Order: sequence, then C-alpha cells, then structure tokens
Amino acid sequence: MPAHKNQLVFTIKDKCKVCYTCVRECPVKAIKIVNGQAEVIDKRCIGCGNCVKVCIQDAKVFLNATEQVYELLQSGQKVIAIIAPSFPAEFDDIKDYKVLVSMVRALGFDHVSEVSFGADLVAQKYAKILTTPSAEGFISSDCPAITLYIEHYSPELVPYLAPIASPMVAMTRVLHKKYGYDAKVVFIGPCIAKKAESAEVDEVLTFRELREMFAKSNISADNMEPTDFDPPHSGKGAIFAISRGLLQTTNVSENIYEGNVIVADGRVDFREAIKEFENGTIRSNNLELLCCEGCIMGPGTSPLGKRYGRRLSVSNYVKEKLKSIDYDQWHKDMEEYKDIDLTQYFASNDRRIPDPNWDEINDVLHKLGKFNEKDHLNCGACGYDSCNEHAIAIIKGLAEEEMCLPYSIEKLHKYIKDLAVSNEKLASAQLALKQSEKLAHMGQLSAGIAHELNNPLGIITMYSNILKDECKTDDPMLQDLELIVEQTDRCKKIVSGLLNFARKNQLNYAEIDIQKLFERSVQSVICPNNVNINLNSHLMNKMAMLDSDQLIQVVTNLFKNAIEAMPSGGDLNVDLKDSEDEIIITISDTGSGIAAENMEKIFTPFFTTKGIGKGTGLGLPIIYGIIKMHKGKVDVTSNNLPDKGQTGTTFKITLPRYKTE
Ligand code: ADP
Ligand code: MG
Repeated sequence: MPAHKNQLVFTIKDKCKVCYTCVRECPVKAIKIVNGQAEVIDKRCIGCGNCVKVCIQDAKVFLNATEQVYELLQSGQKVIAIIAPSFPAEFDDIKDYKVLVSMVRALGFDHVSEVSFGADLVAQKYAKILTTPSAEGFISSDCPAITLYIEHYSPELVPYLAPIASPMVAMTRVLHKKYGYDAKVVFIGPCIAKKAESAEVDEVLTFRELREMFAKSNISADNMEPTDFDPPHSGKGAIFAISRGLLQTTNVSENIYEGNVIVADGRVDFREAIKEFENGTIRSNNLELLCCEGCIMGPGTSPLGKRYGRRLSVSNYVKEKLKSIDYDQWHKDMEEYKDIDLTQYFASNDRRIPDPNWDEINDVLHKLGKFNEKDHLNCGACGYDSCNEHAIAIIKGLAEEEMCLPYSIEKLHKYIKDLAVSNEKLASAQLALKQSEKLAHMGQLSAGIAHELNNPLGIITMYSNILKDECKTDDPMLQDLELIVEQTDRCKKIVSGLLNFARKNQLNYAEIDIQKLFERSVQSVICPNNVNINLNSHLMNKMAMLDSDQLIQVVTNLFKNAIEAMPSGGDLNVDLKDSEDEIIITISDTGSGIAAENMEKIFTPFFTTKGIGKGTGLGLPIIYGIIKMHKGKVDVTSNNLPDKGQTGTTFKITLPRYKTE
C-alpha cells in the first residue's frame, strides 16, 4: 500500500520539477522540500488543493475515490448521489442539466439530488444568528478547508465557528431521514477538502473524478433521456456557489447583511481576514470565508476554467430554476425537514509549530549570506514571502537552504571561482612537472660531462702544480703556470657545481641550529650599505637534520642573487617558519624581479642575464640540486613590472626537518 493511500493530496515525485510554486501557493506551508523534492505533509494539509491547481507538471494529485464508489454501486445497497450547486460551472458542455442527472443515474445511483436544498436549510440557521444581536461575530463553517484551517492554525477562533453543518452534511441528514440510515451518500462537487470533512458522507467525488467515471463507463450526453433531480428540490440555495457566500442566500434584509458580513475568498484574503478577526479589528463582524475564489474554481473542477464564464453558467441555471420553482412544494419540504439537527461541532486541534527564536533565525540567515536588511531581497523565489519566513521554515524542517536563489547563485559562482583556481593550480603544477623533467635530463647530461671532465682536470691541475713548483721565482713561465692553475681551479668549481646540480654528491647530515646558521650567514654576507637585511625567525623548534655546508651554499647563493638584483639598494627579508616536520625559509628582495619569460629558465645550468664573465648561471641550479637532495622543494614568485606594484623576487624553500629516505 503506498504511503499516501489515505493522504488527501500527494506528489508524484518523478513529475515534480521543484519550481516551488506549490510552496508559494500553500496557505499553511504544508509542503516540505526534502532532497530537492516537494512533499505534502498530510498532518498540516487542509486539502484546499491550491497546489493541485497551480502545478503545471501535474505532479500534485489528490485522493481518488472512483474505485470505492464503483464498489458501493455494485454492492446492492441504496446509493444516493448529491450534487454540489457549482455543477453548472463544470458541466457547461452539457446544455440540459437533466441530461447530466440521467448520466449520473446511468452510473448506477438509485437517486440523484441537489445539495442546494441543504443550503436552503442551513441558510435559515444563519439568518437566525445574523438577526440575533450579539457583541461578537461568527465565522461561517461551510468551507471545510477554512474550518480545518481554524482548527489547526487559529484554534483560539474555534468557538467563533458557527456551529452549523455544511449544506453537504445537511443534505445527507435530509436524505438519511428520507431514505433511511442505511442509504449510502456520495457527494459530487468541486472540492478536495470535502473528502475529509465528514464521516456521515460515505464517499466524496470531485467533478474531475465524475468525468473519469463517465469515460470509464462509456456514458455520454448523446441519446440520454433527460430526468430531473429527485426531491426535495432547492430554492435560492442553488445560488450559493456564486453568491458572496452562503450568508447571502439567507432571507435577511440587505441592510443587515451588508453591515455585518465580511466576505473573503482566496488563499491570501481569507488568511488576512482571519488575522484581523484574531487581533480584534473586525471581531464584531461575521466572516464568510472561502478558501478558493468561489467553489466554482475549486481544485476538483476541470483545469483552465474561466471564472466569469462559470459564474454565468450557474446564474443562468438558477434563473431558469427559479422561473419554474414550485414554491408551495418548497415550503412544504422546508417544513418537513425543519427539525433536522443541523448542528456541527468543531474542536481545536493545534498543529502550529512554535516559531524559533531570533538567534536561531539569524544563524540561518547568516548561512544564507544575509547579514543585514539590504541582503533580504525577499524575492519569493523560494516560495516564501520573505527571507525571514524561509529561514523559519528551514528551522522547522520544512525547507532547504538551496531553495534560496541568490544563495544558490552565489554558491555556484563560488564553485566556478574555486574551479578556476584549481585549474590554475593544475596548470602551474603541470608546468613545474615539465620543468623538473627538463632539469632531470639536464642533470643527467651535466653529470656525464662533469664526470668525464673531472679526471683530465685533475691531471691538468696536478701537472701544472708540479711544473709551477719546479719553476724558479724569476722564471717567466711562472705567471703562465699560475694562470693555468687558477683557470683549472675555476673549471673544477664549475664541474663540482654541475655535480651538485646533478645531485650526485653526498649529503653530510647533522643536527644543526637553523637560526644560528642564518644569523651567521647574514653577518658574513658582503652587503652594500644601501641594502637592509632583516632576519625574522618564528621557529618553534630551531633544530633540524641538514647538511649545513650545503645549506650555507644555498643561502649564500640566494643572498648574492638578491643583492645583485638591487643595485640601487632595497630590502632583503629572511623569514624562518616551521611546522613539526618542516622548515620553511622565505627569502625575498625588493629588486628588479624576474621577467615572466625567464621564470622557467632560471634553474637551467648556465642561464644568466648578467652578461658573459659576470654570471655563471650555476647559482640557482646548484640550489635546486641541494634542495632536491634534501627532499625539499623550492618555489619562486616574482614581479618585474612596477605597474603591478613593488617589484622583487621571493624564494620559498621547504625542507623536511628530519632525514627522509
Ligand atoms: P647567475 O646569478 O650567475 O646569473 P643564477 O643561477 O644564480 O645565475 O641565476 C640565474 C638568473 O636568475 C640570474 O641571471 C637572474 O636573471 C635570475 N635571478 C636569480 N635570482 C634573482 C633575484 N633575486 N632577482 C632577480 N633575478 C634573479
Ligand atoms: Mg647567482
């Protein structure tokens, strides 16, 4: 059995496109959005059917009673159909109402009567209250969605509901008296809420379901012999579907009526009237309230009906009817049934969910990015009239944050931004990968060359030193030999630099105090007066396992580069930070910066912008090699364009605190 078996209105989930129109139209907020799906909360629903009317996806459906009615008709019991006064509005395609009556009979009903005789009886009761002077007004009780609304959501007003049965219940009582209490009564009308109104009525069909049964049973207006409704026939009560409410069908004078009765219909107006009645502004008036814009526009009527065309159909029907009415018979009937008990009791059944406090509401509003009045767009896209109401509904578990359009758009923008950032990161990681692959190849080549050159260089050094030692001090060869030794030394330095870059050297790990190492490096660097070196240490733990000679080489090379980039002076800032297992060294200068096109070349051996004889282009490759040997990494950011702000370069070196394999 589906969960919605006895639920008045429910959602067909596959059809719901979550447009929130039903949320907006539901006067009692009985529609909950769960995981992006609109669900009707049966306990809160008053069966007004607004959601059914507005859902263009046909995702909202109401309980269908056709099966049960077919069963009743086949049960052999006496079954009476009572038809609501709004029927001419629905069946304007059937020119003679008597044909419709015969069609209903053809379904198997034993009798077919009009509810409007019940309306005549009920109207008399109302006339009595209207003409009895009273300090306080009452609220009419013929619309079941309204009475349910008051029982659930304005329970304090229950005592003000007129204790009078609806025309449907009144007519049922009449027919039970006429045909016996075993007779089954099926109400046919425009209303969904009627399905839950009274246990006295056996089944309730909407006009839509009646049409469905006609189609299923192959009943059409063609060749149908017309027959009239079964008595008792109604009088003016037939007009109450289009009058300004049931009260107008009473025979009290216009004056009393006009001065006393406030008529409000539709989901917005009826609640406003109740609110004003509640706060006392219109407490002395009587309220005639209808949930729909008149019963003729009820959710059980066919969709797309035109309000004024429907009114006209009903008024034409009533005009014709009153022309030929047998008043003597009507009076007799009214007399016969005047003692029928028309009382109806209502009981409060509070289903309000207490409102959360302002702190809770504000918390949710902040989550939705609404921090002040200006952020409250109250656009209504979520289905709630204001951002506050939406926030309250979220807390009550009726709504979701995603329903807020500005919030969702903002979130989407953020996703797009995040995506762009991660794309950028990906691109730079790709670039770095390419770069390190390139450097790895160069490393291999350099290592090969260095290895091959090392031995002959050693031999040259050895023999030139021997020759030099053998020379007398005044030998003219001595100067040449000294030059050979000096240049060979230079070659050896380059070769060992290449070996360093190629990471072919060994590291001598030892526990060192990094802060001290930097303090010493700063003191020993040859620094022009116009350059300020600032050392900032935020180290929690100064000790780390590193090769101190190699690290000094890194620092010295970086300082040298920074100073060379600031020929007219500037700042060299050294920043030391750490985490439990990492040391982060940031060295930045306010120098000329590195051109974007050179960024990927600076770690390549022999790349220099400093001119032949000035730079070797081995400083950074060596740094790179040493850091890689330590299993660390080096990042560079630089700006060489004064338009973009302070120029300068920052090297960020991250080293593991401990030796890693
Ligand atoms: P060299 O210093 O011998 O040129 P390096 O390998 O140390 O070789 O540096 C390579 C190139 O990187 C330099 O020529 C220079 O263009 C650029 N460079 C390195 N460090 C900096 C810096 N701090 N500021 C500006 N440019 C730098
Ligand atoms: Mg250098």
